[in-house]
Amino acid sequence: MPTFQNGIYMRKPDFPERFYLDFDGFFASCEQLAHPHLRGKPVGIVPMEKGSSCVIAVSREAKLRGVKNVMPLHEAQRLCPEMILWPQNPDLYRRAHNELLSEVMMVAPIDAVKSIDEITGRLDSSQMRAPEAVTASLSALLIPYCSTKLSAACSISC
Ligand SMILES: [Mg+2]
Repeated sequence: MPTFQNGIYMRKPDFPERFYLDFDGFFASCEQLAHPHLRGKPVGIVPMEKGSSCVIAVSREAKLRGVKNVMPLHEAQRLCPEMILWPQNPDLYRRAHNELLSEVMMVAPIDAVKSIDEITGRLDSSQMRAPEAVTASLSALLIPYCSTKLSAACSISC
């Protein structure tokens, strides 16, 4: 039954129709997976090995110390002096992104790639009636891509 809000009719579905997947600190997770010695440590991804002025992505461990994605380097280092600065590797992130798309398509079709770490897809009629099974399937296949607890590295919703 549609509702009328702010001058437009809004359709309210009876079941979840889509899934949404979004990683947090994706570049940092990719580096922690590729370089095991970085796992469990605060990591800040910087655009260049030398002369960078900001961190573009940070690991969960750095976030717990108050550092945020896209933060001036001096501020990030003040909050977390022990943070390991790691130069970005776009090819690594593209490969991880492509692998993720292949894995997710095993569960449900993808209908939009919002960014390198955000995906939405459409559930079929049986999945709409059991969205928790989709969430569980996506969670199981994504665990190997997370350097930390899945719930901290990635949000999945249906
Ligand atoms: Mg994200």
